[in-house]
Amino acid sequence: MFPRRPTRQVWVGSVPIGGGAPISIQSMTNTHTHDVDATAAQVRQLAAAGAELVRVAVPDARDTAALPAILGQVSVPLIADVHYRYERALEAVEAGVHKIRLNPGNLKQHKQVERVLAACRERRVPIRVGVNEGSLVERADPALRAAQQSRLAADRRRELVRLMVETLEEYLRVFEKHDFHDVVLSAKTPDAALAIDACRAISARFDYPLHVGVTHAGPLQTGRIRSVAALGALLAEGIGDTVRISYADDPVHEVEDAKELLCALGLRARVEPELIACPTCGRIEVDLVALTEQVRARLSGIKVPLKVAVMGCVVNGPGEAEGADVALCAGKGKGIIYVRGEQKRIVSETEMLEALCDEVQAVAQQIERGQAGVRNAE
Ligand code: SF4
Repeated sequence: MFPRRPTRQVWVGSVPIGGGAPISIQSMTNTHTHDVDATAAQVRQLAAAGAELVRVAVPDARDTAALPAILGQVSVPLIADVHYRYERALEAVEAGVHKIRLNPGNLKQHKQVERVLAACRERRVPIRVGVNEGSLVERADPALRAAQQSRLAADRRRELVRLMVETLEEYLRVFEKHDFHDVVLSAKTPDAALAIDACRAISARFDYPLHVGVTHAGPLQTGRIRSVAALGALLAEGIGDTVRISYADDPVHEVEDAKELLCALGLRARVEPELIACPTCGRIEVDLVALTEQVRARLSGIKVPLKVAVMGCVVNGPGEAEGADVALCAGKGKGIIYVRGEQKRIVSETEMLEALCDEVQAVAQQIERGQAGVRNAE
C-alpha cells in the first residue's frame, strides 16, 4: 500500500474525497444533459460499472433545467461541469447537484465567482477548480510563449506547471477571502509527463484534495497508456484522491480501467475475479488467446474476488497455478486444472473451458458462503 499525501476532506453528497478516504472513481456522461432519459440511463450504467461520482456537462439553461429530473432517477452524486457561464453553476446548485466544476480559464470575473461561492456555501456544495492546459495557453503568457518556442519539452513543461500553480493560487485567493475551503483541485493536459509534474507541484503547494486524470487522452488504445503512465506514477507517490480516466469512447471503459488501475496498485480491494494469462510463445499448443477471451467473458458477472490463471504450458504454469484460486495449464490435447494450488483434474482440450468454469463457479460459491458467514457473525 502506498502512503497517501495528507489532504483536507470534502464530501460530494455521500462520497468523501481526500482526508484519507478511499480513492473514488468518477466519470462523465457523453449524452446531451437535456436528454433526461439518455443521461439518467448513462449515469446508472456508469454507477453500475463502479463510478462513485458522475459529471454532466451543462452548457445551456435547458441542461440545468433537466438536472432535477435526472437527480430523481439516479442514486450516485452528480457533478455539474460549468464553463463560461456562471449562471449555469447557480442553476445547477439550485437544482441540487452535489458538486460544481469551474474552469479558471473561462470563468474569471470575481463578482461572478463570488456569487457561485455564496450559492455553494448555502447548499454545502463543494467546487472543483480545474485548470486545463488548453485554457492556460489562452492567457498568452510571454514566458510560456518563449518556452513553447523552445525545442526543449522540459522548458515548456516547467512554464506550464508554473502557470497552472499560479492560476490556482490567483483563483483560490477569492475562495480564501470568503473562507471557502470546500475545494478539490485538478490540472489536466493530454501530456502524461506534464500531468505528473503539475500534480506533484499542486500537491506540494496546496492541501486541498486532488482530482487526477489525463484529459483528451485519445482513443482507448493510446489513451490507456497515457492515463496509466500518469496516474500510476502519481498514485504510487500517494498523490490523488479521486480519479477520472477519459477516453474518446464509451465512458464505461473509463470506469472499468480506473477500477483495474486502483486494484493493480493495491489501492482498492478486488471484489471481482482477477484473470491472469500467459502471453503465449513458441511452446504453445492450444489457441490460448481465444481461450483466455472466452474465460474472461465467462467471469463477467461473478462478484467475488478470486484469481484465475490461464497458462499455456508447464514452464510457468504450475507456479502461477499455485498462486491462483483456479488455474488451467493447457498442453497438447489436454489441460491440468488446479484448485488452490492442488492438481484437481486432467481434461481433454475440448473440455478445458467448461471444466475451468465449473471449478471457478464452485470456488466462487465457497467464497460467497464465507463472506455471508462473516456478515452474519458481524
Ligand atoms: S506459460 Fe509456457 S506457453 Fe505461456 S508464455 Fe510461458 S513458456 Fe510460453
